[in-house]
Amino acid sequence: EFSGGMRQRIVIAIALAANPDILICDEPTTALDVTIQAQILELMQKLQKELGMAILMITHDLGIVAQTCDDVGVMYAGEIVESGTAEDIFLGKEHHPYTVGLFDSIPNLTSRATRLKPIPGLMPDPTNLPKGCVFAERCSHCMEICKTEHPKIYVNGTHKLCCHLFDENGNICALQDQTTATTFYPIPIRSLFIGDKGFGGLEAPDSNAIQWTFLPNYSDDLAIVTPTDFNPLTDLVPQS
Ligand code: SF4
Repeated sequence: EFSGGMRQRIVIAIALAANPDILICDEPTTALDVTIQAQILELMQKLQKELGMAILMITHDLGIVAQTCDDVGVMYAGEIVESGTAEDIFLGKEHHPYTVGLFDSIPNLTSRATRLKPIPGLMPDPTNLPKGCVFAERCSHCMEICKTEHPKIYVNGTHKLCCHLFDENGNICALQDQTTATTFYPIPIRSLFIGDKGFGGLEAPDSNAIQWTFLPNYSDDLAIVTPTDFNPLTDLVPQS
């Protein structure tokens, strides 16, 4: 009989047997406790470096995204509604309302709130998606145009947003006061481990002065950071 961690390692070994250029990991650490999760992510980081492959990580766990991904795509109803580098997604100032909702759903141990702030409503029927924005039914910023016209993709450098709230430069162009009323801007991260290889890290112990430090051997492929002391519950703190 194998433990969850052992089974996960076996599956990784099977996946790597064909020496792939890209490893697709769909929720690779679900149901594992945090210690085993850290070991699995560390193993994947090690193998990624040794084999020179890329990793496509599919997960609902924003802590894992912060730890492992260089480039992030936020998907809703089968569409990428926001994409960018990890810095764009975790430290950027403008976000798609769905991304804001995801971050608002993270428990915050420093907050006095007694309830989480979920995204209201349900996913649309994937066989009958709305004509306009796929998130319109659940979006508190929904405008008339959102119900009839699918939003264009607004590009701001590496950061891309698919939402009528933003102009062609990614700047907020509508309902500005409502949009800034969210609790997402910015997310100060007090500490984020620095992996011994690959990915960099950041530290902002007492202020919002976030600094990214990319290590010289930073890889273009997705990199995984050893999650030594990162706890998304305490280290990702939305600013109110
Ligand atoms: Fe909300 Fe409209 Fe943006 Fe869709 S396009 S996320 S409904 S504001």
